[in-house]
Amino acid sequence: MDKLIAALLSQLDAEEIARRACELLAIPSPTGDSAAVTDYYADRLTELGLEVHRDEEFAGSPSVIAYVNGAHPGPTLELAGHLDVIPVAQEPPYRAGDLLYGRGACDMKGPMAAVLEVTRLLAGVRQHMHGRLMVCAYGLHEAPLGRGQSLLRLIARGNIGDAVICVEGPDDALAITGRGMCTYEISIAGPGDPVHELQATADTPHPLLIGLDVAAMLRDWATELRAGPTLPYVGTESLFIGQFESGDFYNRVPGHCRIVGTRRYAPGRRFDEVLAEFEQRLEAIRRTTATPIRLTLTKTRDGFRTAEDDRLVQALQAAYQETVGAALPLAAFAAVGDASLFANEGGRPAVYFGCGLERAHATPEYVSLARLARQARVLTAAAARYLGITA
Ligand SMILES: [Zn+2]
Repeated sequence: MDKLIAALLSQLDAEEIARRACELLAIPSPTGDSAAVTDYYADRLTELGLEVHRDEEFAGSPSVIAYVNGAHPGPTLELAGHLDVIPVAQEPPYRAGDLLYGRGACDMKGPMAAVLEVTRLLAGVRQHMHGRLMVCAYGLHEAPLGRGQSLLRLIARGNIGDAVICVEGPDDALAITGRGMCTYEISIAGPGDPVHELQATADTPHPLLIGLDVAAMLRDWATELRAGPTLPYVGTESLFIGQFESGDFYNRVPGHCRIVGTRRYAPGRRFDEVLAEFEQRLEAIRRTTATPIRLTLTKTRDGFRTAEDDRLVQALQAAYQETVGAALPLAAFAAVGDASLFANEGGRPAVYFGCGLERAHATPEYVSLARLARQARVLTAAAARYLGITA
């Protein structure tokens, strides 16, 4: 291992990460109400001697951006994460052996505590640093209330590093790509109030039956997608039907039909293209009926792909090899997250590297402190490599 990096890692204090993670968990921060935890986080960054900026554009969900400025010119490496948690209550935080329990433990106050420790270590070697380390903590992440509103504004105003590590995600792989995702809702409404089946004539629209045609079309499309090209790391595109609702009584003509689900698409494809494809498939069914079939397609995120030979990817792979002693395989991020925004809206290489996501949104939510410490070691070594802090 590089001598300077080894010296840095020898100062890593796993207990400090545990303590900060506990403190973060003790401050509730459901999406939309994360000001108190953000203040706490900004105070810790200030104590570490960073240049700290607060962004108050979104009341109740401020962001904080902080820099460790190196002594030499160079790129900005950003470590990014959210401080809001899903609004599902869990017992107050507590520690049991290696595990720390609490809402947000792994998603993602634990990793944000690890970032504080990474920052503390790198602030001590800024005289060797080429460029700067940027820490960005924000809210309005978790759906449905959070849609990345504050992060999007930060990016639009140029508050973005030259490369970004989203510090949530797998800890045994580096996620460099992910599919895009949107949700569809297809509604079919009859022309009037529901009637008794005996009042219906042959040409009374029957939304449920039209809905079955739409569902059959979607099922065939899903099969087609599954048989389609397998994309590197992410697999195939997909379409999923999650809800089919129609009818309210056994002998009434249903007044409506509603079909809801997800469509996941290849990195590199854009939402508008997927929308056009949807409309085209529905057109074939629309030609067979006068009953309107309405589509609402809502974009969650487009997909993204960071090049395998990007400097950021190489720095993380080398860091993992030297700290964990194994190769770090490349992978896809199965869910949709903020790397898409950094890559698509910001045009920067972005990846996910975290402490594992198995317990995200689960009850109970917990995190392994050993895995957090390991994440901090890898991030420290990666940042050191990216910012030229080597012997
Ligand atoms: Zn998260």
